[in-house]
Amino acid sequence: MHRTPRFPDRRAPRAPLDHRAVAYIDLAAIQDNVRALKSLNAGAQSMTVVKADGYGHGLVQASLAALAGGADWLGTALISEALSLRAAGIRSPILAWLLSPSDSFDDAVAAEIDLSVESSWALTRVIGAARSVGKSARVHLEVDSGMGRAGCDLAELQTLVERLRRAEQQGTVRFVGVWSHLARADEQDPRPTDQQLKTYLRALETVRAAGLVPELRHLANSAALLTKPSTHLDLVRCGLASYGVSPTSWDSVNGRIVLQPAMTLRSQIVRLRAVGRGYPVSYGATYHTQRDSTLALVPLGYADGVPRSGSNCAQVTVRGRRAPIVGRVCMDQFVIDTTGINARVGDEVTVFGDTTTGDPCITDLAASSDTIAYEILTGIGGRVPRVYRTGADRVQDPD
Ligand SMILES: *Cc1c(COP(=O)(O)O)cnc(C)c1O
Repeated sequence: MHRTPRFPDRRAPRAPLDHRAVAYIDLAAIQDNVRALKSLNAGAQSMTVVKADGYGHGLVQASLAALAGGADWLGTALISEALSLRAAGIRSPILAWLLSPSDSFDDAVAAEIDLSVESSWALTRVIGAARSVGKSARVHLEVDSGMGRAGCDLAELQTLVERLRRAEQQGTVRFVGVWSHLARADEQDPRPTDQQLKTYLRALETVRAAGLVPELRHLANSAALLTKPSTHLDLVRCGLASYGVSPTSWDSVNGRIVLQPAMTLRSQIVRLRAVGRGYPVSYGATYHTQRDSTLALVPLGYADGVPRSGSNCAQVTVRGRRAPIVGRVCMDQFVIDTTGINARVGDEVTVFGDTTTGDPCITDLAASSDTIAYEILTGIGGRVPRVYRTGADRVQDPD
């Protein structure tokens, strides 16, 4: 039997972790982030993107926190994710944008999930589902404005728009919006995003010329929300920033709002040993100690989402001090050098968390591991229990 781990009180002395590793999720932080982000685009509606298990924070928990923070919409990649939200009793508007032929379109239409359409086959399935369920399907048309991933191109657009108009006249489709996705909004050079905006607006003209009136035009992701007001339009789809992590290092709102990282990944030291100089560490002996050293074993590995590419690069904290990961990160464990830290077995090891309390920053971990925070958050394994804190049990700062 496991005991349920408790959320740590930031003011209290740390009790020993009662689990090998824990991902603490601060739902009040998500709620605050969503509210703060919404203040940046008062004129537009806000969608919190909760795909991939709410970026690893828990699909339903993250969604409820986002709605409590004022999110108007939830966004998922998959229909199955959207259906899970409905099954949890969430009634807010939901858009799902990555459709597969094997999906249950009938269930999606019956559950009043908005569906993104970018291809003829998908529109055929959506219309078929609307007929079989006896309800109009709510559709957002996706255009490719230059990302070259999903979305119809301008040639396909013409055909889709004509079919959509007929379907709307027949009552099988309710045409809701036209949207696109930005490929380079996190880069400091504004030109690629300006170009995408232009292409998107041109596509919008084609849609209007065919007699379709989009209620919602949407383009911006987190990076564009933070840096490019011209892309906000009617609705902003915000993922990463809602979880308290900025996708850019240079956003123009720096200082205007505070983002609170919602996830903290902690483990503990399970073994310590003193070794001499030249001691080989972990698979492949990619590291040898440079001096007399203290090495500590941490029972967390790449199966739990610690990137293997962080071997010999990433740092964690122990007793408020930095300790480097030495040798290769293994499936279930890694080794850190705690020389001079006076660490004990049972001491907490923080892999990433809230930088305002001295925890390592997930963006630094990602950079030193040659990846992005998105991949780390969504890669935290199912073996790591999530422990939630809500607003109700939130510790108030004394000042
Ligand atoms: C994931 C995703 C988003 C959110 O992106 P962030 O960079 O996390 O804000 C928005 N729109 C689409 C289509 C997405 O796939």
